[in-house]
Amino acid sequence: MAPPPAPAAAAPAPLAAAAPCPCDLGAAGRRYADCCGRYHGAGCGQAPDAASLMRSRYSAFVLGRREELLATWHHDTRPAALEPDPPGLRWLGLSVKAARSTGPDAAEVEFIARSKLGGRAHRLHERSRFLRVDGRWLYLDGVDPASGLPAGGA
Ligand SMILES: [Zn+2]
Repeated sequence: MAPPPAPAAAAPAPLAAAAPCPCDLGAAGRRYADCCGRYHGAGCGQAPDAASLMRSRYSAFVLGRREELLATWHHDTRPAALEPDPPGLRWLGLSVKAARSTGPDAAEVEFIARSKLGGRAHRLHERSRFLRVDGRWLYLDGVDPASGLPAGGA
């Protein structure tokens, strides 16, 4: 007897234009098409400021749009490839705490992203650095604001 075939990995479902944006989850009534959807696909990386790029990158994580994540990553720190999220990971929400300009083409955005995996809640608190290169905002890197250590290593 052959074992039953493994279920195919579910591809991220395309989001309806009227769906609430993942960066907002309907709290402010923002639709994906009017929010982060504007910066995905052909417009990726064209977010007008670092906070908008931060939101659109969070939405790209939620939607599994790894091409947008890589396309908006500064070449100095961009990984060669991104691992898929662990199966069962659910993103629960994004809260942008602060955004400030740190130079003519530099900015910092502090945020909390919440997720759940295997029944355990996880909270990512990060202060990200962004640089504007040739008019496009790019993610550089991030630290845990409490420890000052690189974020995401917990
Ligand atoms: Zn959004």
